[in-house]
Amino acid sequence: MPYALDALEPHVSRRVLAAHHGRHHAAYVAKTRTLIRRTPLESASLEEIVRSSVGRDTALVNASAQAWNHEFYWRSMNPGGGGEARGAIAQLIEESFGSQRAFSQQFVTVAGDQFGSGWAWLVLQDGRLHITATSDAHTPLITTQMPLLTIDLWEHAYYLDYQHRRLDYIAAFLGRLIDWDFVNQHLARRSVRSTNVGSAGN
Ligand code: FE
Repeated sequence: MPYALDALEPHVSRRVLAAHHGRHHAAYVAKTRTLIRRTPLESASLEEIVRSSVGRDTALVNASAQAWNHEFYWRSMNPGGGGEARGAIAQLIEESFGSQRAFSQQFVTVAGDQFGSGWAWLVLQDGRLHITATSDAHTPLITTQMPLLTIDLWEHAYYLDYQHRRLDYIAAFLGRLIDWDFVNQHLARRSVRSTNVGSAGN
């Protein structure tokens, strides 16, 4: 984890983060390791495992994509984050959505409307930002979209803290948690897209 388990309180509690990281995320990592053991993917990066298992091995793509998505989610947040975007991403948000307020409203709509388990994403495609949602383990990592930010919309991410109030969790993510520095670091790498964007630090 990039921060202590209680670092995101009160927006995400230590109790939720401990179970989410120590049980849910850990289970996806363990499953991925089991599935790649003694295969050509054993020494591959997590991103390579996700990409190469698509269409070939459903169990592996689910486990490895969930491992990657969670890693990306932890780093999309930071204690003291959220609020107005700054740096290069702020300019792109203005160009793509018209205003930061419009970005926030669209993010709330897309994340709030995602039916069932999944993820909402800020992605870059063809030079413009888009907000998308994916179901279950699906990830923009395997598309032509470049993921910049994600929020976990599985109930295990928020239910103990917010119960059915998913919109309150999304509002806390936007207002208090987004790590805009992380987003800007990804933007800076867009010209070298072939580098290992998501798994640095694994
Ligand atoms: Fe999760």
